[in-house]
Amino acid sequence: MREFLEIRDKILESDNIVVVSHVNPDGDAIGSGLALTLGLRKIGKKVRFILQDKYPDNISYLKDLKSIEQYDETKEYDFNLVICVDGATDDRLGATKALLKNRFVINFDHHISNTMYGDLNCVTEISSTSELIYKFLKFCGIEIDIDMAEALYTGLVNDTGNFTHNNVTTETFEMASELKRVGVDNSKIVREFFNTKTLAAIKLLGKAMYDMEYSEEKKLVYYFMSRAELDRFNGRKEDTEGIVERLIALKEAEVSLFLREDKVGVIKGSMRSKHDVDVNEIASIFNGGGHRKAAGFTSELPAEEIIKIVLEKL
Ligand code: AMP
Ligand code: MN
Ligand code: MN
Repeated sequence: MREFLEIRDKILESDNIVVVSHVNPDGDAIGSGLALTLGLRKIGKKVRFILQDKYPDNISYLKDLKSIEQYDETKEYDFNLVICVDGATDDRLGATKALLKNRFVINFDHHISNTMYGDLNCVTEISSTSELIYKFLKFCGIEIDIDMAEALYTGLVNDTGNFTHNNVTTETFEMASELKRVGVDNSKIVREFFNTKTLAAIKLLGKAMYDMEYSEEKKLVYYFMSRAELDRFNGRKEDTEGIVERLIALKEAEVSLFLREDKVGVIKGSMRSKHDVDVNEIASIFNGGGHRKAAGFTSELPAEEIIKIVLEKL
């Protein structure tokens, strides 16, 4: 990667570094951020990993999660370099966006919608930010230990759907192979991270699968989950993770749309595409983004309105 040299030099001349990532952090945000934090500490850097939101429970097998701090706006943070991982825009960083002000910003990401908000941007089409960080750590000659390897493997599993998406390349498999050599228990990670669900998550998935709607004309399968439904099962945001991927299993469907009411008047949207439809483009109508085949957005429009706009666009 062309930018690696400049980024490494910038890191080498900085002593106090902060790593940040996006709101509601997923396996790639945490995996890439944690591996980078641990790696830079190994070469003697003082590094803090700061997030707006707490990490999800299903990732608690990762060691050193205590390294992750929750952002506190009343605190003063003393550092000079901030490294953003897996954040397509500075707004996606949530409250931690404030940490970018008047600081040197490095932006490591893999979303095509990335706005290049850093002073140094390393943004490329690759399976995950974890794969990008893996390459960077190797470039710097930093040895990947088991704790870093587990974090990176979690990022890979998260963003490739456990190696099922077409963002997997031979290099992705080579990375997985090396992480396995370091000692990663792939079966444990997939079981705990991917295949273990709370009762609420299973009920909510069942509800969405049972009551989903399908537009034959537009080949869109969609479902809106209201706050009341989430509350009925005591569901948290993370309990709906993966529903959008299950909806698109419908044989005839080309695109899936899952809407979740995060709070009254605020809807989080997730979209997936099976073949040619570019859902990044559709998400951008709502100021969101992501990738061609997986994208998301947040909107204050009513659910019916969002569905209408998506159907019109398809
Ligand atoms: P999700 O549907 O939340 O799993 O997200 C699918 C992809 O779109 C992921 O790569 C996210 O990082 C990205 N994404 C989700 N929400 C947004 C947003 N509001 N803006 C930009 N990218 C997003
Ligand atoms: Mn992410
Ligand atoms: Mn990612």
